[in-house]
Amino acid sequence: MSNIEQTLSIIKPDAVERNLQDQIRSEFKNNNFEIIKEKKIHISKEEAEKFYKVHETKPFYNDLCEYLSSGPIVVMMLKKDNAVLENRKLMGSTNPKDADEGTLRKKYGISIDKNSVHGSDSVENAKVELDFFFKD
Ligand code: UDP
Ligand code: MG
Repeated sequence: MSNIEQTLSIIKPDAVERNLQDQIRSEFKNNNFEIIKEKKIHISKEEAEKFYKVHETKPFYNDLCEYLSSGPIVVMMLKKDNAVLENRKLMGSTNPKDADEGTLRKKYGISIDKNSVHGSDSVENAKVELDFFFKD
């Protein structure tokens, strides 16, 4: 049975800075993700704080929001069977050091904070996050 879902991917500032968006886009396509929408934007710290609100009590929250707003990012609406989980698998562990071979964070991530990509962690959060960037 098919279970088509949509999820949000963000190519974070460290990856856009190194011009990795074409390579990462190819990774999604090679893994049968359909890229429904895509845009390159530069968000404010206030917007980053809103996006990462679930993490507001974490010690890394301020740095995380500074970082996500530090330069351009590419946001993508991805579609695939089980897209949320499939994207999390393709991304790998939060810390690139722990990520499996072949995953995006292993290949491109620099450190736990500069880990190149974001992906929604549930279908519910994917809806909220896609609305955040693409509701217009
Ligand atoms: N992060 C960090 N330090 C930590 C944990 C997380 O800088 O100790 C950053 C990291 O960039 C991560 C983001 O905060 O991608 C969100 O954390 P989360 O636990 O949701 O990880 P993810 O869902 O991105 O794998
Ligand atoms: Mg997360």
